[in-house]
Amino acid sequence: MHDPRAADPHDLALRPREALLGLARAHGFHHARLAQVGPTPHGAAFEAWLAAGHAADMGWMRHGVDVRLDPRRREATARTALVLAVEHHHRRPPDPGGRTGLVARYAWGRDYHNLVGKRLKRLASALRTAGVTCWGGVDTAPVLERSWAAEAGLGFTGKSSVQILPARTSWMVLGVLFVDLEAEPDRPLRDHCGTCRRCLDACPTEAFVGPRSLDAGRCIAYWTIEAAGLPPLALRPGFGRWVFGCDVCQEVCPHNAAAPDPDEADLAPRHAWLDLDEVVASPDDALLARFTGTPLRRPGAAGLKRNALLALGNLGDPGGVDAARLGLSHPSPVVRGAAVWALARLEALPVAATDPDSLVQAEILAAREGRVPPATPLGPR
Ligand code: SF4
Ligand code: SF4
Repeated sequence: MHDPRAADPHDLALRPREALLGLARAHGFHHARLAQVGPTPHGAAFEAWLAAGHAADMGWMRHGVDVRLDPRRREATARTALVLAVEHHHRRPPDPGGRTGLVARYAWGRDYHNLVGKRLKRLASALRTAGVTCWGGVDTAPVLERSWAAEAGLGFTGKSSVQILPARTSWMVLGVLFVDLEAEPDRPLRDHCGTCRRCLDACPTEAFVGPRSLDAGRCIAYWTIEAAGLPPLALRPGFGRWVFGCDVCQEVCPHNAAAPDPDEADLAPRHAWLDLDEVVASPDDALLARFTGTPLRRPGAAGLKRNALLALGNLGDPGGVDAARLGLSHPSPVVRGAAVWALARLEALPVAATDPDSLVQAEILAAREGRVPPATPLGPR
């Protein structure tokens, strides 16, 4: 019987467009489009974004810039970009209340980058078996996935800098495979934002420099996932209850109003909310073991505890003082510093608080100088 996941060399030669798109569907991608390969579209905007320092400390964004700007520098025979997407939206379960923190949707279940990466690897393997030269990836290769998605019309780039399928969803993981086949490309979509600017106005930390331009150094997702240190004092109240990532700019987008939930066990949600006291109190290794196979491991145990302490400081619930005190004895100065800030927000920082580390000392000084406003209790979400 014919296996739809096997690539047929004759089919690829005779009907490359249909064959590539059919293979993408057979390998579990919800959407696929094609773009002709040349210099990466909007590469100049990416260079300007980097030059402005808006990548913050994400050094990996500066690696392989020449290939990001033109994939033919990695493989000269690349002719077509096969742009792929898997949807991952799920309705947020009801707020459990108490001292819980919010997790961004993409991290509720298995690590989508692994899941989608495996699908992409199997698709690449099928193509190679049929004699096609290809390379690419999901977030791991030096590829500007969003630029290629925009060029291929796999959504349009919203003012939130996210790819959006009009009136359907922006909750997607994107991947790209560059192949050495000529195939008829798709066309970019027109802009569907119009005069809307909900995402720009709703961002709790004012991270947008302008439409389609995000300063990662002000973004909650950057600080709670990628960054190793403590965010600037002024930004922290804006983090609210977000303990891993942030979905605000996508949640407010009208194109997501009726986003469908994919019916796939692999994408089932597990961790939409985290118990903040539990995150702080868990031994580091047990905390990481709990999140095996999910993106929640990325910031490490210290990063997760930092995030939970910042959320406790924002929640304004005096019951969080015990957990915040536990943070004061963590080996990481980042966790101790976050604990100092949380206690200051909860008006419970011991008068005699001291610490040998300069980072924590700076937090104590900020609290003593009155630069940490007391928390106003946050309501349910
Ligand atoms: S993810 Fe959150 S913090 Fe980052 S830009 Fe969007 S709304 Fe702002
Ligand atoms: S919220 Fe409005 S402006 Fe922002 S991406 Fe969606 S449609 Fe565009």
